[in-house]
Amino acid sequence: MTRPGKVVIVGGSSAGLATAEALRRQGYEGALTVLDAERHLPYDRPPLSKQVLTGAWEPSRTQLRSQQQLASLDAEFLRAAPAVICDAGERAVTTATGRVVRGDALVIATGLRPRTLPDQDELAGVHVLRTFDDAVALRRDLAAGRRLVVVGEGVLGAEIAASARGMGVEVTLAGFGSVLMGTQIGAMMGGLLTRLHTERGVDLRLGVAVEALAASGGGRVCGVRLSSGELLPADVVVVAIGARPATEWLEGSGLTLGDGVECDAYCRAAPGVYAVGDAASWHHEGLGRRLRLENRTNATEQAQTVAANLLGAERPYTPTPYFWTDQYDAKLQVHGLPAPAAETHIAEGDPAQGRFVAVYRENGGVTGVLGWNMPKQARLLRQKHLATPRGGKPAATVRSAP
Ligand SMILES: Cc1cc2nc3c(=O)[nH]c(=O)nc-3n(C[C@H](O)[C@H](O)[C@H](O)COP(=O)(O)OP(=O)(O)OC[C@H]3O[C@@H](n4cnc5c(N)ncnc54)[C@H](O)[C@@H]3O)c2cc1C
Repeated sequence: MTRPGKVVIVGGSSAGLATAEALRRQGYEGALTVLDAERHLPYDRPPLSKQVLTGAWEPSRTQLRSQQQLASLDAEFLRAAPAVICDAGERAVTTATGRVVRGDALVIATGLRPRTLPDQDELAGVHVLRTFDDAVALRRDLAAGRRLVVVGEGVLGAEIAASARGMGVEVTLAGFGSVLMGTQIGAMMGGLLTRLHTERGVDLRLGVAVEALAASGGGRVCGVRLSSGELLPADVVVVAIGARPATEWLEGSGLTLGDGVECDAYCRAAPGVYAVGDAASWHHEGLGRRLRLENRTNATEQAQTVAANLLGAERPYTPTPYFWTDQYDAKLQVHGLPAPAAETHIAEGDPAQGRFVAVYRENGGVTGVLGWNMPKQARLLRQKHLATPRGGKPAATVRSAP
């Protein structure tokens, strides 16, 4: 591919911004337009469920770059400008206000939208947590002594429960799985995490489905009804039941949409069209299968490859997946793809001391390494076992909140 004269990036958060920066760093001097539905300057999402929710950080601290740093990119930034139509063949997008932006190359970086329960938008006191505004609204609604019900036992639900306990909130967490984060870290590690939450005072209802949200006369949520018949009283509810790729605006674009924007090994969805970050599903040559990752490190790493390929490199993207989560005083760092069914053993340290590394094996090979307050040792075992990702049948989405 010849170098594009103009690149249009749709979605200007972690992955979109990293792509713009990587293009400039790799010597791209052409025109660059970045459009985003957000009205805020680009911000980082991981602190939203941790430092912002607990109040340890002012929300503004999540801003990824200063105005000056953004200006130095010599790009046109269109904010509060959601793309609503895409013509992939023309590499053109139309915004909600009817403006058409055309490029020689197009990068899709629109991330995810949270899944919701029926009718939740009608009720006050029911939240999701994806954006800056979501975090500010949830923090405002929580106060010591209030009763929070978190729906969803995945990583996001678990983080919110931990942060809310830190604020003195009464927390009940209800989820379908039998342990916290079971789909991401398996039964053994999920069991340890579940125990940690119980010790810290979270009231757990696991292995149950949520049937409905209950409302008071005033249109505010007052509880969550479970399939067991139990009604969990609540002043505030957070629904953290996963998210789906934000690709509705690409319907009819000519691109293939499955679980995300389907790309080849080079993150290319069509000639001159690439996808990056949470919204991208690509063929991982090392694993020999399609993958879509929902984690912060992937947003940055994939952007480097997409930028290089936009400039003609033809480089397949073959990362070793990685995500972290912070809950109470535990930092979990997960390398590779630890399938829920993988055999798990403690390779170093001791769970009783709250510091250890677990190794996941499947089909005779190591597929994942989990460090629990042991970052260095986990990294060394990752280098030893996961330099080239191995196969098996890991979950397609590493960081999700089912
Ligand atoms: C609360 C929270 C905590 C997290 N914690 C961790 C963590 O501890 N560790 C970890 O590894 N990962 C974590 N993650 C995941 C990580 O933040 C994401 O993987 C990362 O943000 C993905 O970046 P992205 O740019 O692909 O998508 P996003 O960050 O979602 O950005 C997509 C951007 O596209 C914009 N957009 C959407 N649709 C359109 C449209 N039609 N037109 C224009 N713009 C559009 C959006 O407004 C948004 O700005 C967390 C995520 C959340 C929400």
